[in-house]
Formats: sequence, structure tokens, C-alpha cells
Amino acid sequence: MADRPRLTTTAGAPVADNNNAKTVGRHGPVLLEDYQLIEKLAHQNRERIPERVVHAKGWGAYGTFTVTEDITRYTRAAIFSQVGKQTEMLARFSTVAGEQGAADAERDVRGFSLKFYTEEGNWDIVGNNTPVFFVADPYKFPDFIHTQKRHPRTNMRSATAMWDFWSLCPESLHQVTILMSDRGIPTAPMFMNGYGSHTFSFWNSNDERFWVKFHFKTKQGHRHFTNREAEQVIAKSRESYQEELYSTIERGEYPKWDLFVQIMPEGEEGDFEQKTGWSAFDLTKVWPHGMYPLIKVGEMELNKNPDNYFVHIEQSAFNPSNVVPGIGFSPDRMLQGRLFSYPDAHRYRIGTHYDALEPNKPRCPVFHYHQGGEMPFGLRTNPDAYYEPNSFNGPVEDPSVKEPPHRYAGEVNRYDYRAEADHFSQPKALFNLFDDAQKERLFHNIAEAMNGIPQFIEDRQLALFDQVEPAYGAGVRQALAKVKSESDSEKQTSISTSHSASAAE
Ligand code: NDP
Repeated sequence: MADRPRLTTTAGAPVADNNNAKTVGRHGPVLLEDYQLIEKLAHQNRERIPERVVHAKGWGAYGTFTVTEDITRYTRAAIFSQVGKQTEMLARFSTVAGEQGAADAERDVRGFSLKFYTEEGNWDIVGNNTPVFFVADPYKFPDFIHTQKRHPRTNMRSATAMWDFWSLCPESLHQVTILMSDRGIPTAPMFMNGYGSHTFSFWNSNDERFWVKFHFKTKQGHRHFTNREAEQVIAKSRESYQEELYSTIERGEYPKWDLFVQIMPEGEEGDFEQKTGWSAFDLTKVWPHGMYPLIKVGEMELNKNPDNYFVHIEQSAFNPSNVVPGIGFSPDRMLQGRLFSYPDAHRYRIGTHYDALEPNKPRCPVFHYHQGGEMPFGLRTNPDAYYEPNSFNGPVEDPSVKEPPHRYAGEVNRYDYRAEADHFSQPKALFNLFDDAQKERLFHNIAEAMNGIPQFIEDRQLALFDQVEPAYGAGVRQALAKVKSESDSEKQTSISTSHSASAAE
């Protein structure tokens, strides 16, 4: 044992034997006083924490963000204060629907979550590899997720539920088109873009506010699997993303993304809506690049694998509510809903003091007055200043970081603006970007995903594709006919094989 550390219990007492239970006689029963064994078994029972309801399967790494362009005219955020400035960060990528053991190379949206450890607190982007989402209102989120998860009776995923929901929800068309396009199965996390997706805001040192969208563009290029390629990968490995991200970083080939922003001065959102028919705060819509060009900001590089997956990636907790002075929110309804949901999920999943855990711990000083709770190991209390205001040198507020007021106005109501919105032009613009081969793969991917659902749901969804572009609906119809006849002839073959097998018996 010369230069190796001595094995101890969690209370630090040295362990003499880690192999033999304490028994009465050579084969006799085990004594309850073998507290070391009890501690070991009890810890094993507690090795898992509740998995995330969504984004359970993930892969991540630490890295660095470097500012390459000056954007201080838009934001006073410390992370962007100087060209050349570097900030440590953590990234976690994920699939949305699958459980923790799910295969990596499945057709699904990918989570793209980032935490920047700035000197004025953690700034998180909790985005996806798509610039938009399926729904634009938080009321719809739990229902949408139910359609992606297992059917309560069969305990299987349900294509019927997915297409029933999507076909009743035309705002989802844009995201469905992206999901079913080539970009629906990236080959590994470094070959996809990331988007903040929501509209956020920047505010500068003159208290001027700008609406902002964040785009992280892969420097490795886009790479995707077709359905058939993905099936082959999954047949060999369910961990293909983990393998590729981990080994690439271990080899020192650090993946990189360029950060761009789109900027809309506060007040221009009304004009935008008038001109385009889209709300600047609708998560199912992008801001066209032609109207709001991409502005380069910096570069992100992932360069360090965590030394313990559970500690750094499973316990990592990203919140869209983690903003810092210079960065704020927008009226985007989904964003507002997520400002509640994410910290709530982490308090449930990891505990009250989840922000004191290693991957979530700010790298700047933290002083607050929260007390107690389970495992308050992150609390740094001044023994006499445990309330506010106090006369004992407790932390005090800093008015210099006060955010300028938002200019929201209007009557409180439950507005259904989406009933009149144009949900077709943006998927159409995307559809028209695809070449013929990309379109064929889109039709085929949709047909495979729709095959077997009730006819009335299929018809309702096809009518939506027709509204995007007649060629879109026609292409899916044709692909569906092909996929259906292939699966019919597969069924025929298996029936005749089983008949001839039973005849032979
Ligand atoms: P642009 O021609 O300026 O941009 C097209 C965008 O589409 C590029 O960002 C490109 O990403 C992206 N793209 C290409 N193929 C796919 C795909 N299969 N899935 C998702 N994105 C893809 O057009 P506009 O800004 O006028 O937008 C036209 C359409 O492009 C939109 O309706 C939207 O569907 C899509 N789009 C727009 C974005 C935006 O913020 N404006 C962002 C992403 C997509 P890349 O540069 O990485 O190749």
C-alpha cells in the first residue's frame, strides 16, 4: 500500500477489509454491525438521481469561449468586454425524447446547452441544434412531450400520438420539416449548429436594449446519417456520440463553433410583425438573415473531457434564467415558461443547492442570504449577517447593475395570436433551400415516420404539407405509397415464410 491512499469509510475511518463480510462462523449470517458493508450497499442504492424528463441522454465537455469582435455597443456583459477575452465554459448536448440508455444516433432534436463562467455570474444558453421549436406557448409543452414519450398503456413510443399532435398544431410544421430533413440525425455533436432559439435581449452601458438571437455555427461542417446509416450505427453502438466526442477531445482535435448574433433594436418588433406577419418573439419562427444579418462575436472550443461523467455532466444544470448584467429576456412565451421550469426541474432532480455543485458553481464569488436546506455545503455565511439589511458587513445590493426597464404594454388576456399567424412561409423557405435529393430524403423520412398511423391523421398532416407547398404534400404522398407497399410485401413474405415453416413442422 506504500504510496497509495488508505481506503476509508465516508466518515474517514480506515477500512481493514473490503472483501469479506463480518459473519458468525465461516459461513454464518452477516452481522448488522458490519457498518462498512451497510454503507457500501446503501450508497449503491443511491447512485442514481432522477433522470431528466426531457434531454435525459447527454454528452458534454469543458471548453473556452474567445471574443473575436467588439459588440460592446450592444451589451455590457462582462464576457464580451474585450476582443481576445477568454471565458471558461461547459457544454452538454443531448437527445430530447430518449431515456438515459437510448441510442445516440436517433432522429430527434438535439439539446445544445452552454454555461459560461463569467466574472459576473453564470450565463447559460439552453438551446437546441434547431433555430425554432415545435410549439410557441408553454401550455403546449407538457402535452407535446407526452407525445414524444411512451404511451401510458403500451409503454411504447407512439407515432399516432406524435402525428395527431403535430397535425393539430400547424405551428409545429417548421420544426417537423427540420427534424425530418438531413439535419435530423447529426453524426456527432461537433457536426451540428447550436441556437439560443428564443429571442433574448442585450442591454448596453447607455441602458439601450436590443433583441438578440444566438447562433453557434459548427466549424467542422455539417454531417448527418440517413435512416439506414443510423440503423447500422445503432446496431453496433448505442453510445456513438459519447465515443466520438470523447475520443476527439482526447486526441487533442478540439471541436469549435463560431458565435454569431442577430440584433433587432428594441421598438422595431412592431415593424417586423407588420412586414412579415411573424412575431419577433415566436419560438416557431426565425428572423430571416436577409433582414437581420449574422454578426460574428467569437469562437467556442471544447478542449477538456470531464474526469467524472456523473459529477460534471449528469449533475450539470442549465437554466435560461441564468443571465448576467448586459443580457436579459424577451416576452417570448416559451422562454418565460422555461424561466420557471428549468430551475424547478433542477431543485427536484438534484436538490436545493444544485448551483453549488462543481459543474454549476460560479467561478466568481457568491454571497447570498439563503439558509439551510439539504446539503448546504455551498453556503458561505457571515455568522452575524444572516438577514438583510444588517449592520455586520453582510453582502449588499449593487444598483450599478440595474437592468433598464422593459417597454411592455398591453391588456392582460390569453391571446391566441397563433390562430392567425403564417405558419407556412418559413417551412416553405426551408423546403426551397433543399436540392432534389434532400427533398426526396425528407419525403422518405416523413413517410417512414408516418407509416401505420390512422388515415384521418395522415390526411390532416398531408393537408398541412400541401399548404406549405403542393410539391411537399405530393412528395410525401408518393413516398408513403412506396413505404406502405414495401411494408405490405414484407408482411406477406413473413406470413408465407411462417406458413411454409408450420407446413414443414
Ligand atoms: P438563408 O438562406 O439566409 O439561411 C438558410 C439557413 O438554413 C442557414 O442558416 C442554413 O444553415 C440553414 N439550413 C440549411 N439546411 C438546413 C436544414 N436542413 N435544417 C435547418 N437549417 C438548415 O435563409 P433565411 O434566413 O431567409 O431563412 C430561410 C429558412 O432557413 C428559414 O425559414 C429557416 O427554415 C431556415 N433557417 C433560418 C435561420 C435564420 O436564423 N434565419 C437559421 C437556420 C435555418 P447553415 O448556414 O449552417 O448551413
